Amino acid sequence: MPNPDAKAPFAPASTALLTAEDEVARICGELIRIDSSNYGDDSGPGERAAAEYVMAELAEVGLEAELLESRPGRATVVLRVEGADASRPGLAVHGHLDVVPATAADWQVDPFAAEERDGCIWGRGAVDMKDMDAMILANLRELARSGARPARTTTFVFFADEEAGGVHGSHWLVDRHPHWFEGVTEAVSEVGGYSVTVPTPDGERRAYLLQTAEKGILWLRLHAHGRAGHGSVPNDENAIVRLAAAIGRIAAHEWPREYIASVRQLLDGLSTLTQQPYAAGLDPLLATLGGAQGFVRGTLQDTANVTMLDGGYKHNVIPQSASAAVDCRFLPGHEEALLGTIRELAGEHVEVEVVHRDIALEAPWAGSLVESMKQSLLRADPGATVLPYCLSGGTDNKALASLGITGYGFAPLRLPADLDFAPMFHGIDERVPVDSLRFGARVLGDFLRTC
Ligand SMILES: [Zn+2]
Repeated sequence: MPNPDAKAPFAPASTALLTAEDEVARICGELIRIDSSNYGDDSGPGERAAAEYVMAELAEVGLEAELLESRPGRATVVLRVEGADASRPGLAVHGHLDVVPATAADWQVDPFAAEERDGCIWGRGAVDMKDMDAMILANLRELARSGARPARTTTFVFFADEEAGGVHGSHWLVDRHPHWFEGVTEAVSEVGGYSVTVPTPDGERRAYLLQTAEKGILWLRLHAHGRAGHGSVPNDENAIVRLAAAIGRIAAHEWPREYIASVRQLLDGLSTLTQQPYAAGLDPLLATLGGAQGFVRGTLQDTANVTMLDGGYKHNVIPQSASAAVDCRFLPGHEEALLGTIRELAGEHVEVEVVHRDIALEAPWAGSLVESMKQSLLRADPGATVLPYCLSGGTDNKALASLGITGYGFAPLRLPADLDFAPMFHGIDERVPVDSLRFGARVLGDFLRTC
């Protein structure tokens, strides 16, 4: 890393010795205290303050990053660090600086105070994803101080706007400033690399779920049309009735199950580990995952959930139109089939409009990067198992995929067996154990040096 100052004799001994593990909890807490709520409509505080914090932490150890704004207040930080072997293809390591909003009244603690309680740091972003931001930042500082280089030339990014589809963050950077990703072939980021504790014939064992696939997003609006009229007169062309019938058909539809490679590999691996077969039924096997099974259930088939309704304006008026929002998530290759099925279920009086779409991803569960992620986890937690899985949601890896970059979810956390981790994403009382953060910082550092 080009940082001659880091080895200067006047560097204070106390900070010169600090490792990523020493600093990760402090940084995570400080990031949580900067409210970067993303309401999806530009009404929030934006990421600028968090981005300036990242810039200052980097500058303090002699690292010069760039702060880019897609629009006022919507800030992304990016820097490129030359690798030990600059001839190898580049890597991207990225996080997002925004968080989903939090309603303080629902929480046990102030969601933006980063209170430390029961060995955990509590607050919005503790798991999604200021924890990983802190691991990345702490490791950059350690690399700079030690004068070491990552194994591969690495583009580090702290994105804006992930929680609203990355329009003002990852998609913007990839479209407007793709040069940051020149030579980059692979990426690692959020929602993978955390442990679940499962029962096995030899007692409880930890399995780390590494994210190798993501479902695609199809946000649809249903528009029902009918005949307006007086609320006292029979009407067999009521738009609300037509919409309700369409919603009923969509909700009742059983999407056929199809196990894509990453799902099949997870189920097989889990079955081997737990000695729980699943040919006769999946429920006992999924139950071994505890709270994390929700993540997996969303990836067994396509899904369509109605999330918003809009129709009518007066108690005694039959409206001529009504509409509903549907959040559809599809497995790789299913996009057109899902859309076709929804159009069919909607029926002839209900139009289907595509509001937003983004691709599904599936990366190979093989190759040297996968091997590096596995080995870094296993060096830190020997005896554990590493399994692939598909994420039912989406990440900034979708945007990077448009540049041909293969993305994985690898934000390593060794979690206590009884912590119900998965529901904390966008949930209340989000918190991360300090020990897990320190473990993650160590594993990520090991990975950056050896990948
Ligand atoms: Zn996230």
